[in-house]
Amino acid sequence: MLRVDIITIFPDYFREAFDYGIIRRARAANLVSVQAHDLRSWTSDKHHMVDDRPFGGGDGMVLKPEPIFAAVESLAGARRREEIATGKRVVLLSPQGQPLTQSIAADFAKSAQLVLICGRYEGVDERVADALVTDEVSIGDYVLSGGEPAALVVIDATVRLIPGALGSETSATTESFSDGLLDYPHYTRPPVFEGMRVPEVLLTGHHAEIARWRREAAQAKTRRNRPDLLK
Ligand code: SAM
Repeated sequence: MLRVDIITIFPDYFREAFDYGIIRRARAANLVSVQAHDLRSWTSDKHHMVDDRPFGGGDGMVLKPEPIFAAVESLAGARRREEIATGKRVVLLSPQGQPLTQSIAADFAKSAQLVLICGRYEGVDERVADALVTDEVSIGDYVLSGGEPAALVVIDATVRLIPGALGSETSATTESFSDGLLDYPHYTRPPVFEGMRVPEVLLTGHHAEIARWRREAAQAKTRRNRPDLLK
């Protein structure tokens, strides 16, 4: 079972997020457990301060290191990257991180525990990235207001790659990025919609021809939308 712990100042953000579809089924089957924790519960001052002004000046606030180190210590049992047990990953969501890929998600899916740290404001004190986390991950080249939507993306991409999480009706091995290409186009009924016809070959029942059409269509779509993947 993969244990996922989210460290956030907005735990309610995740209240119903894992009650749908594949993640709900995976939780019910004990393939994954997910819990959001309030960063403020690891503060010791009476105002439960999690942020402070940046050294050197400038706009905004920065999430303080002490509560984050304390949270990771209590959830993952370590205060430094090198002390984190094999199989555990402590992930900082950050636009400055490595871009999330299917292969990183597959790697996360094999771990025993994933601790996700959600930043806010101007970000997180850099000592967290320097000394604590095993992975700094971005979900794309744009800036979100907080790490929470990024944590949802990481969890969703990861959970569907846990063996048994996808029903027999879906297989991760034919999806986009599994073989370096985008997925082939899918069609369902009706065969003609507003004058647009489903490709004839898909209606023939000829499996070899259908497989060839799908391979070529996947290559054409990848060339058109993501030529970088073909390099
Ligand atoms: N000052 C930071 C910068 O320019 O790189 C942006 C901070 S952002 C407003 C606040 C938080 O949102 C970040 O600490 C991070 O946790 C999260 N975040 C924003 N964009 C993200 C992205 N593309 N991927 C993952 N997390 C992101």
